[in-house]
Amino acid sequence: MELEELPGVGEATAEKLREAGYKTVESIAVASIGELKEISGMGEGTLMKIIDAARNTLQMRFMTGTEVMEKRKNMRKITLGSKKLDELLGGGIETQAITELFGEFGSGKTQICHQLAVNVQLPEERGGLERNALYIDTENTFRPERIIQMAKGMDLDPDTVLENIIIARAYNSDHQILITEKASELIKEKNIGLIAVDSLTSHFRSDYTGRGMLADRQQKLNRHMHDLQRLCDIHNLAVVVTNQVMARPDFFFGDPTAPIGGHVVGHSSTFRIYLRKSKGGKRVGRLIDSPNLPEGEAIFSLSEVGVRD
Ligand code: ADP
Ligand code: MG
Repeated sequence: MELEELPGVGEATAEKLREAGYKTVESIAVASIGELKEISGMGEGTLMKIIDAARNTLQMRFMTGTEVMEKRKNMRKITLGSKKLDELLGGGIETQAITELFGEFGSGKTQICHQLAVNVQLPEERGGLERNALYIDTENTFRPERIIQMAKGMDLDPDTVLENIIIARAYNSDHQILITEKASELIKEKNIGLIAVDSLTSHFRSDYTGRGMLADRQQKLNRHMHDLQRLCDIHNLAVVVTNQVMARPDFFFGDPTAPIGGHVVGHSSTFRIYLRKSKGGKRVGRLIDSPNLPEGEAIFSLSEVGVRD
């Protein structure tokens, strides 16, 4: 359905909305009146009608608890390479969900993304999906050499594993959004079972600096997360995103998910794992706000062969 088919949306308005990034009826359905008001210059009453109409077309149908249970039966888990971390997550990272890894520089976010890009290719009985990976690299930290080491560590053929990881460099936040918008074809064609977005937030932080930009940044980021959520629902795949946060002295006594250094972090991940360095080169992962798992911590290590206990 085109934007023009919504009541009260003419060609000019549709064009304005598209330019502002609202390309689909779905994006209008999840938008707020406030954000559309600025772009379109329309009154609140009209906008309310447009948003309502967009929502009605979405066939947001209700599901019974049984149906949700049925859908979750197709949910699979990917091992992280460490038994402790897997236990923390109830078996590994889930398909149909977004898992966010957050922590300071060097805490192991990128290493875990590499490990998952390898592990998704494992046979199911070894904790994989026998599917391939899409790696969205925003910081130029994807390293094929690490993949080779980790593949060997899993007794997999390194050349095959490397060939089965598709890398997309994202050069700015709009480019990053575009990649996920266009990913559906590739996902089907390449049988993608994992999307890693490393890092989710770095471009958004540098593209939207300053106080006035905070709301814009959050809107774009929310929409990007929404796109990712849709991909993992439709294709029954796992999404892992990374988010770098700064450590602060009072961190461990307060709420680690609270806004840090003015960086508003409020996305819609299903699982959030806070990573930190510990004694003797060890790392600690802490599960935060899970809908169905207890909070807890797991100690793991990073070695040449990858993520291990
Ligand atoms: P970030 O959270 O910033 O993405 P990384 O995932 O890049 O952090 O973690 C970097 C850390 O990973 C290094 O400090 C090191 O401890 C570990 N690491 C990276 N490569 C290797 C390797 N080949 N062998 C052992 N440890 C490694
Ligand atoms: Mg990194």
